[in-house]
Amino acid sequence: MKSDELNLNCYATLNLNQPWSLNTYKSTGGYEAWKTIIENKPSPDSIINLVKESGLRGRGGAGFPSGVKWSFMPKDAETKYLVCNSDESEPGTCKDRDILRFNPHSLIEGMAIASYAMGVKVAYNYMRGEFMDEPAIRFKNALKEARDEGLIGANIRGSGIDFELYDHVGAGAYICGEETALLESLEGKKGLPRFKPPFPASYGLYGQPTTINNTESLASVPKIVKNGVDWFQSIGKPNNYGTKIFSVSGHVVRPGNYEIPLGTPFSELLDLAGGVSEGRKLKAVIPGGSSVPVVPGDIMMDINMDYDSIAKAGSMLGSGAVVVMDETTDMVKVLNRISRFYFAESCGQCTPCREGTGWLYRMLNRIIAGEGSDADLDRLHDVASKIGGTTICALGDAAAMPVLSFIKHFKQDFEFYVKGYNQKQVAGG
Ligand code: SF4
Repeated sequence: MKSDELNLNCYATLNLNQPWSLNTYKSTGGYEAWKTIIENKPSPDSIINLVKESGLRGRGGAGFPSGVKWSFMPKDAETKYLVCNSDESEPGTCKDRDILRFNPHSLIEGMAIASYAMGVKVAYNYMRGEFMDEPAIRFKNALKEARDEGLIGANIRGSGIDFELYDHVGAGAYICGEETALLESLEGKKGLPRFKPPFPASYGLYGQPTTINNTESLASVPKIVKNGVDWFQSIGKPNNYGTKIFSVSGHVVRPGNYEIPLGTPFSELLDLAGGVSEGRKLKAVIPGGSSVPVVPGDIMMDINMDYDSIAKAGSMLGSGAVVVMDETTDMVKVLNRISRFYFAESCGQCTPCREGTGWLYRMLNRIIAGEGSDADLDRLHDVASKIGGTTICALGDAAAMPVLSFIKHFKQDFEFYVKGYNQKQVAGG
């Protein structure tokens, strides 16, 4: 079936009271913030200041304050864009997918408000290729509903406000989640990260000033504008306000997406997910997607799930993908799998990333095959140390950080393989 037919069929069978429908969204106060803006036309700066004051931090990885990012958009630029990064590809992460599936109007409303605040008239939502079915179709249908309702388009409800929003589905490359690679891809080119500077705020989509925000960040905006700063700051803790969706996977009884206040103890999140499978002991947790440093289980049990607490423990909240590993986990094999991913997804522009990711993966293969040596452990560390910070984009760091942290915290797992090799050597004379 062609994708257009799929879209039409999906729309024809749309039940107007399904959780993701416009009716349902409106029944929970949806679009009230946007309608108030359309009617009263507050100063765009007042919206930027409100989001700044709320302390909303980006939910995609870096945790940069969203309102501050919006304030970088040049005011005098004639043409400028907002792009939503729905290219959710970090292994373990599936929260943006569910926002597109179950709450697409919150993203549309958030993008409308953000565009108004920055003086943007045209915005794009870039979705990962694997979202081509349900998430992308539901978002497309929601766009149609919003357009039919007169909430987006030209001269919205006679207000003089123009806002057009387009959906775009990528081709499934992890690197297109890097914001400048995403822009290249959106322009119809190969998704290669750009050298920076210039940054997208001055030279973005089609060479015009562009702000790129994550799906969850933008979907958080309508409620902040509707309910105010105090309401938002009543959730979470200072410098870490609001809720966050964590995608919990691995050795837990109930894997899934859990939206909890930032600052919630990890132990409570683990309880929500039913605890470690089969009553086993917790060995390790990757708290923010496969690219962030792993944290030993005993340390993790004392950590709160917020940007600052996880950073203090030597890792990052990242995309909120929490990978739980029990005591039976072979950490060398986990790292091998992660390293293969970054090796396969490297775009090849920088030598340290292109060559280094391959070296890491091949060394790990050698160690697992029982052909590693003590020197390989040092070499793994050495190569990973030389990739971090020497590349065009953060994929190099993403490949290096797991290696360094796995060796730091679980060296005994690596030595087990290497010792086995040494014993065989002795036995074999
Ligand atoms: Fe490409 Fe890797 Fe360089 Fe990023 S770090 S530009 S993925 S080669």
